[in-house]
Amino acid sequence: MPNIMSPRLDFNSSVADLARQMERHAMIRVVNFHNTSRARQTEYREQFARLSREFSPVNEPDLDRYLATGRWHKAKPGVIPGFYEGYRNGYDVIVPLLEEFGLVGWFFVITGFVKTPPGEQVEYARQHDIGMKTREYVDGRYALSWSELREIDRKHVVASHARSHMLIAPLDEAEQESEVVGSQRDFQENLGHPVRTFVSYGGPAYGTHAATDALITKAGYQFVFSNLKIQRLRG
Ligand SMILES: [Zn+2]
Repeated sequence: MPNIMSPRLDFNSSVADLARQMERHAMIRVVNFHNTSRARQTEYREQFARLSREFSPVNEPDLDRYLATGRWHKAKPGVIPGFYEGYRNGYDVIVPLLEEFGLVGWFFVITGFVKTPPGEQVEYARQHDIGMKTREYVDGRYALSWSELREIDRKHVVASHARSHMLIAPLDEAEQESEVVGSQRDFQENLGHPVRTFVSYGGPAYGTHAATDALITKAGYQFVFSNLKIQRLRG
């Protein structure tokens, strides 16, 4: 009898799930980026040029309309370029390129990284699985600042990647609350409004852990991004 928890079966069912998702929601693609150092600017420029030829930009109202109706309203399919963790080079390197090519970037930000004093951010990154292969900022600030995020928020999407880049389900109740609801509070305080989108470390979908789900609802998130899908929780 097969072990239903075996990694292979789990992988196969994930691939089947992905295939079903792509059949149902074929009109939006997510392309993920992490540390976008200036050394690779030319490469990003070429990628964004290609994406902008084949795809339309997607903001949160576009995504909302698409997931609510099942119909995509633009001529070309949509692309969501996603920038994870909240690296400062997302502002310096990526935002000008997105704007040059008319794309909307989605910035999934770890608020604990942003709140760490610049001199301690490299160490914070090391302790929280935030890749730091490049050292381009001599002042030691590697996370976006709140003022950069407020600027990004005007034309692009700022979303929650929780507070400290940890698997949330194994944490105790207070820590889970801090990750899910506390990160939303950080955005509320620093952007002046709550954010609509949440994605947690490891990419679990909504519906995976009841306690986390309850906090996602409490925090008021509308969309949950996970490894294989985007879920719309409410209108
Ligand atoms: Zn991450």
